[in-house]
Amino acid sequence: IPWSAQQGWHDAVVKPYGPLQLDPAASVLHYAQEIFEGLKAYRWADGSVWAFRPEANAERLQRSARRLSLPELPEADFLSAIEHLVKIDQEWVPTAPETSLYLRPFMIASEAFLGVRPAQGVDFHVIASPAGAYFPGGIEPVSIWLSEDWSRAGRGGMGAAKTGGNYAASLLPQAEAYEQGCQQVLFLDSEERTWVEELGGMNVFFVYRDGRIVTPALGTILEGITRSSVIRLAEQRGHGVEERRFSIAEWREGVESGEIVEAFACGTAAVITPIGRLKARDFEIGAPDAEPGALTMSLRDELTGIQYGRVEDHHGWMRRLA
Ligand code: PMP
Repeated sequence: IPWSAQQGWHDAVVKPYGPLQLDPAASVLHYAQEIFEGLKAYRWADGSVWAFRPEANAERLQRSARRLSLPELPEADFLSAIEHLVKIDQEWVPTAPETSLYLRPFMIASEAFLGVRPAQGVDFHVIASPAGAYFPGGIEPVSIWLSEDWSRAGRGGMGAAKTGGNYAASLLPQAEAYEQGCQQVLFLDSEERTWVEELGGMNVFFVYRDGRIVTPALGTILEGITRSSVIRLAEQRGHGVEERRFSIAEWREGVESGEIVEAFACGTAAVITPIGRLKARDFEIGAPDAEPGALTMSLRDELTGIQYGRVEDHHGWMRRLA
């Protein structure tokens, strides 16, 4: 869907997948004026196709748009773009367990203009691609590397927006994580380098022996849609969920004293995955072969059950697309 300062959003079209044409002076290529979303369409046993909380993605895209000085796309346009695409591409929604059709909406500043100011010409696109099961051989706890040198975002920055620049900043620390034999990088706050923020592509949760759950507060992190869903499900089961500052020392001491009994990460791709091990330069928490926590796995079963239509959706989270 193109947008111009004169016409607003206009002339939505569905086109066969293929390269985009961009002017070499397009703002996005120089100043990274870009935002995106990620969500999935799930095939239910009766053949119908559903999206999980697409309204929440529409709303987060609007918040990202405000931060990046891009035009806000109305929720109705976001939803109808996804619905149109999925209806046309229905046969691409896979049927095997835990598979899905991944949807990647994104908005780019396409105006050819080399001055630094918000673009007057913008395009919104959605691409769709079948996605296999994240854990084809059964759940594997994720191991994470503590990035002590790099930050993803700082106060007043763009951490809460889903924008390419944040991911550009995380590529080098993510590569270090791989070198260390870990799958994800863990970021701390940029000022005190004390407070746990999030992983390269997931939010984190800590479960105490007494049933309390702690997750880092919003601000400089991405407000994950899985994160807010997990909070709802946990609260409904009677767990107190604290959204607050949580230090790396608290994690270490909590595990050593046996107060913290589970840690898990969550995001659209893996839904919920146990954290098996945290590796830092001079200490390690957990073990690569740690058993997944009971609450972690039961929340995962409930959430994936809702997404695939096996568990009743009491929250109005699922939206039928086809
Ligand atoms: N944090 C970051 C940095 C992410 O990229 C993601 C994935 N979108 C998340 C958290 C989890 O967000 P969601 O649950 O909306 O996928």
